[in-house]
Amino acid sequence: MKRALIAGGGGFIGGHLAAGLLREGIHVRVADVKPLEQWYQRFADAENIVADLKHPEACQAACRDVDEVYNLAADMGGMGFIENNKALCMLSVLINTHLLQAALEHHVGRYFFASSACVYNVNKQNAGGFVTLAEDDAYPAMPEDGYGWEKLFSERMCLHFREDFGLQTRIARFNNVYGPYGAWRGGRERAPAAMCRKVIEAKETGKHAIEIWGDGSQTRSFTYVTDCVRGVIDVARSEILEPINLSAPSVASINELVDALEQIAGIKLERQYKLDAPQGVQGMNSDTSKMRQYLGWEPSTPLRDGLAETYRWIHAEYLKGSG
Ligand code: NAD
Repeated sequence: MKRALIAGGGGFIGGHLAAGLLREGIHVRVADVKPLEQWYQRFADAENIVADLKHPEACQAACRDVDEVYNLAADMGGMGFIENNKALCMLSVLINTHLLQAALEHHVGRYFFASSACVYNVNKQNAGGFVTLAEDDAYPAMPEDGYGWEKLFSERMCLHFREDFGLQTRIARFNNVYGPYGAWRGGRERAPAAMCRKVIEAKETGKHAIEIWGDGSQTRSFTYVTDCVRGVIDVARSEILEPINLSAPSVASINELVDALEQIAGIKLERQYKLDAPQGVQGMNSDTSKMRQYLGWEPSTPLRDGLAETYRWIHAEYLKGSG
């Protein structure tokens, strides 16, 4: 039976990936630094281990007897978190470094690295007009400070481990993945989950106002998590040797996200724009031509449908008072 390690599998995307690989009948080992009760999803038929993968010994133990490694472990969050925790974000380089080394020593067949659209040159993303970012737009390098530099450096380390040592690394760049079973409060949540929570709070408290970071015109390619997971598995097993965008082709602004959530919740909110809050680049929109060309498909979950699922789950968590 094939065996896979999901590093960071107690997190949002890793939890959904574990579900996907278990459905394939694969033996799944999930490793995460968080205590088990804080994992977003936990599966009885997986091997669940709590380990800090910043340490080489932990990576050695995690990579023992596995055929595929999926590295989704990173200290990260939404724009507020990554703008205020640059050093923490950069320390994730230790995870990828020691995992690569351990994967090599344990003769792992495939090594997948979860990169990000934050590797793209920020000047290109702040240029006026509507810009989509193709894979080559990561260079000349000027990524998001902290988090983006770590991702770009780790991408290169993956590439060179393949070229120099023959470890079969594969890399995909995610862009604003959203869905249920992820952070929705506490500071690490990303825009779609934060907006769901704010709309739910407005509905439940009767205070029909919403705070929006920036002027709401910032655009993103929002990718539903099940599309992301399908892409991760496809890219990991493909012959795509260079980093590839794994992202929805459609683009929406934060204001449009709120429009959709107002419809889902059946309310209308007064929008209060906080112009000095962290808001990231003006446009982070991925060009998905390569994905279409190499994988023959691209994410297709409509934003409205994915948001409705996310809203439903966060609403239930909100009512439980958990999270
Ligand atoms: P997440 O925070 O929910 O999951 C990351 C997991 O890694 C967490 O459970 C965390 O506890 C774990 N982790 C952190 N440090 C660790 C350590 N030292 N040892 C073991 N585990 C550790 O985030 P996510 O949204 O599921 O993201 C998964 C990956 O995808 C990350 O690498 C992230 O940078 C990348 N990514 C995500 C998005 C997105 O929109 N969610 C966008 C771009 C890139």
